[in-house]
Amino acid sequence: MAWLMGFLVLVERGLPVTRVISRIALQQILARAVGEEIIINDSNVVNFEDLGDKVNVILENGQRYEGDMLVGADGIWSKVRKNLFGLNEAVYSGYTCYTGIADFVPADINSVGYRVFLGHKQYFVSSDVGRGKMQWYAFHKESPGGVDSPDGKKERLLKIFEGWCDNVIDLLLATEEDAILRRDIYDRTPILTWGKGHVTLLGDSVHAMQPNMGQGGCMAIEDGYQLALELDKAWKKSSETGTPVDVASSLRSYENSRRLRVAIIHGMARMAALMASTYKAYLGVGLGPLSFLTKFRIPHPGRVGGRVFIDKAMPLMLSWVLGGNSSKLEGRSPSCRLSDKASDQLRTWFEDDDALERAIDGEWYLIPCGQDNDASQLICLNRDEKNPCVIGSAPHGDVSGISIAIPKPQVSEMHARISYKDGAFYLTDLRSEHGTWIADIEGKRYRVPPNFPARFRPSDAIEIGSQKVAFRVKVMKSSPGSVEKEGILQAA
Ligand SMILES: Cc1cc2nc3c(=O)[nH]c(=O)nc-3n(C[C@H](O)[C@H](O)[C@H](O)COP(=O)(O)OP(=O)(O)OC[C@H]3O[C@@H](n4cnc5c(N)ncnc54)[C@H](O)[C@@H]3O)c2cc1C
Repeated sequence: MAWLMGFLVLVERGLPVTRVISRIALQQILARAVGEEIIINDSNVVNFEDLGDKVNVILENGQRYEGDMLVGADGIWSKVRKNLFGLNEAVYSGYTCYTGIADFVPADINSVGYRVFLGHKQYFVSSDVGRGKMQWYAFHKESPGGVDSPDGKKERLLKIFEGWCDNVIDLLLATEEDAILRRDIYDRTPILTWGKGHVTLLGDSVHAMQPNMGQGGCMAIEDGYQLALELDKAWKKSSETGTPVDVASSLRSYENSRRLRVAIIHGMARMAALMASTYKAYLGVGLGPLSFLTKFRIPHPGRVGGRVFIDKAMPLMLSWVLGGNSSKLEGRSPSCRLSDKASDQLRTWFEDDDALERAIDGEWYLIPCGQDNDASQLICLNRDEKNPCVIGSAPHGDVSGISIAIPKPQVSEMHARISYKDGAFYLTDLRSEHGTWIADIEGKRYRVPPNFPARFRPSDAIEIGSQKVAFRVKVMKSSPGSVEKEGILQAA
């Protein structure tokens, strides 16, 4: 949702469209741009000396390098910052974060690129990073310093996120254990002074923020842009006047122009973390003895307030976060420059959940579940409007599409029909003796009226005669191994 908003904001403001890029891909692009031969990786900076017009840096291996300035872009545990301003503790966010990357293409890849799933004291973020890969972050509230058993990360995550929707579970299952990393999330309270003399700080070393707005790296890149701009100005001035480049003044100008924007976004990231950590879907969640209230599914008042905030304030806030002050973007043409323009449907998808669901480009499957459902194969649903699928203990008659035979006492001979129309699937009960039910992922269950098509959705469960003979609805982009596409599936 946030991604869609961001996308709209940028397109409306004539700015290039934002895409999520994997950190590794970005590092490779940057390394190629500066020239890989000038990057030295095998020894850390341990100290520096500001000599007034030059700075000497000292590496762990004893080597020394001299330069006109030192930019401490050495992350949250910055040595340069520590040597400039002394030790200052980082602040623990309350969350540990598992990160993973998987070869996985969700069925709605063409309409949704970024998703946030909120739960009580835990949340999950997934984003399309291109080339058939999805990156995800799983946040869990706990004390810092936790360690998993060897090869135990995936197992723990599946336990923590048990019962969450397919979008989360499928991604976890598709991720190799080796592709999962864990780290505790810290940030640093912004400081007013970013540098001294010919030394300055950039990125996380000076303003490490919580990842909830996806802005820490973006702010580091903006810092780099502003720093280059100030140094370029100083260089031009020096060429025109024949005086030496005023490095110290250009570093202070860079710091002054970044401080306020970065501090505001840092504050927003903390606020977003607070919202995520206090999220309660229903009244009663996390209230101990009152938790029986969750059964009534009364929306938590904070959730209602949160929705108003998301609808009204979020677009304005994102416009500023993502677009900044566009009058400052000198010389940039006021149109989106990327060839991958936003889809014409974007605004519709943004406002209409139903249109978003109909845009899913994947196959719909029924997965057998329920203790009396002995079927072992998935059933791929037919999108042919003229050939519905019939379910029964012995389906017969004019059945030209798929039929699903379930010879169980609670299933009538011709029990129910599944039909397709305009991107949606419907279930019709054929006056069965024991009834047909649809249950959604939140556990709401209702009986399908006879001879009246009822729509079902991804992740719903379809119950034939009783909960013991059921199917889960799942939409997938690529076909899994054993799928019965046509003909009769013998369930007993
Ligand atoms: C879970 C998570 C998700 C995130 N998601 C996003 C997102 O979606 N979008 C976004 O914009 N940001 C995101 N961020 C934030 C982003 O990762 C950081 O803000 C960004 O990496 C900061 O860049 P940096 O160059 O300042 O520091 P870093 O990326 O930390 O780089 C510092 C570099 O300095 C090196 N170094 C450290 N000490 C020394 C030394 N003494 N000598 C020499 N080198 C040293 C390190 O090895 C490292 O390579 C996320 C962060 C986390 C934790």
